[in-house]
Amino acid sequence: MADAEVHRRETLARQRREWETETALNAVMSDPEVQRLKEEIEELEASLARDLSPTLRRFEERYDRAVQDANLDVLSRSCPGKHGRWGRICVLDAGHQAEYPRLGTNPEGQPVAWLGSAPDED
Ligand SMILES: [Zn+2]
Repeated sequence: MADAEVHRRETLARQRREWETETALNAVMSDPEVQRLKEEIEELEASLARDLSPTLRRFEERYDRAVQDANLDVLSRSCPGKHGRWGRICVLDAGHQAEYPRLGTNPEGQPVAWLGSAPDED
């Protein structure tokens, strides 16, 4: 079989897998119970962030300043906790997990605090 045919079949198989995955995710995410749980989790994360706002504000300002000044010393000591796909970066220092949940902002710039890790966290 020619390389071009092998490549075409691999491309079609990959596109099929992507379509199936996207279709399954859309079906799950459109479920009303999943939507209700998503909203409940978002409210809990916002509520937790409000409870911790004095701490969040100080660390958030430090993180924003470090990004603005390209302060690699501060940034290198930052928590590796990220929810990159959700637009979140934890602004606390590495190793804080025993004391606080992760703290950061959501893509809309609102404070959020969250527990646990995410698949894209490394
Ligand atoms: Zn963190």
